[in-house]
Amino acid sequence: MTDHRPVETWLTDMDGVLVHEEDAIPGAAEFITALEQSGRSFLVLTNNSIFTPRDLRARLLMSGIDVPERAIWTSALATAQFLAEQRPGGSAYVVGEAGLTTAMHDVGYVMTDRDPDYVVLGETRTYSFEAITRAIRLIEKGARFIATNPDPSGPSPAGTLPATGSVAALISTATGRQPYYIGKPNPLMMRSALNRLDAHSETTIMVGDRMDTDIISGLEAGLRTVLVLTGSTSREQVEHFPYRPSRIVDSVADLVQFVADEDRQPEQG
Ligand SMILES: [Mg+2]
Repeated sequence: MTDHRPVETWLTDMDGVLVHEEDAIPGAAEFITALEQSGRSFLVLTNNSIFTPRDLRARLLMSGIDVPERAIWTSALATAQFLAEQRPGGSAYVVGEAGLTTAMHDVGYVMTDRDPDYVVLGETRTYSFEAITRAIRLIEKGARFIATNPDPSGPSPAGTLPATGSVAALISTATGRQPYYIGKPNPLMMRSALNRLDAHSETTIMVGDRMDTDIISGLEAGLRTVLVLTGSTSREQVEHFPYRPSRIVDSVADLVQFVADEDRQPEQG
């Protein structure tokens, strides 16, 4: 890194950085262990709003990566926190799975289909025509439209799955109303993660595998950024973007030593 201020905090994307589907990327377990041992705060970020942090911790553990529940930050948590700050004790009609409904409950929101403040759309694997129709009618009646993340599709072993952005597009087409998206590339996702850790942007690194989500939102939130090449981006593709990461590495395996070296630096002050 060209910046010599000590790194106090690490944020890292999950898919394409730590895991591919359910398989750990070599070095990921060691990277998380190094972060834990460094005593520095960190969060694993994901736009996936299906699972709760407890579910995600269990899934990562099955891949051999031991991430504490408190160190997982999802677009569902960021969405719930955003709404709780914007309109404390509000109400929402929620289309989503446990990751989102649990997060909404935890911030004190009431879930209702009668005159809610918001329609909140997250990712699910069982979209119902009925639920989407209800969401459309509530938005027409004045409910504000929020979506956890704009990803149009996601991967699965069997092939592409339509994701939140695609269903949001359906609702937008029907209502003429666009949602406000909370997840990456909205830098709000990074800022809420920093707030959660009481961390500062200038001493935080964001690690990700996508230029148009992880790197741009890290950049816009004022973080140093590291692109890994284990996900969806190749070294050649990076040059076509009008912005670049602070550093490019082959994989998180290359960051293990960096975390350890940082740890040996004397504490400031
Ligand atoms: Mg990724």
